Amino acid sequence: MIHEETHPVTKEHGPRPYGGPDRCFYCGVALGSTHKKDCVMRDRTVVVKMEVEIVVRVPESWDVGLIEFQRNEGSWCSNNVIQELKRKDCLCNNTLFTYVREATEEDEEGWDLKWPNTDTKETT
Ligand SMILES: [Zn+2]
Repeated sequence: MIHEETHPVTKEHGPRPYGGPDRCFYCGVALGSTHKKDCVMRDRTVVVKMEVEIVVRVPESWDVGLIEFQRNEGSWCSNNVIQELKRKDCLCNNTLFTYVREATEEDEEGWDLKWPNTDTKETT
């Protein structure tokens, strides 16, 4: 889903400390204009699939059916996995992201896609 609110070049959305204060650092367009079509400052939303292999403790006697039932059909909330993911310092070797489709308004429901993005916890 295209996010047109990201198209205008504003003081807060385009200039960077190492570029000029009056234009977009990435596409060079002046304040008050619209970012070029291929500028990284223009956003859209997409759906991606995240596959993660993690190691968890389960009862020794459980078979595949019970392990999958507990996680997929039992009362276990998938949000619990967030704590499990934090046990590993870096997930790069355990994770694969795959593009699924362009996001719709319905897909965006429930996701906190605030703009401008003020998330500062991202690790590179
Ligand atoms: Zn730009």
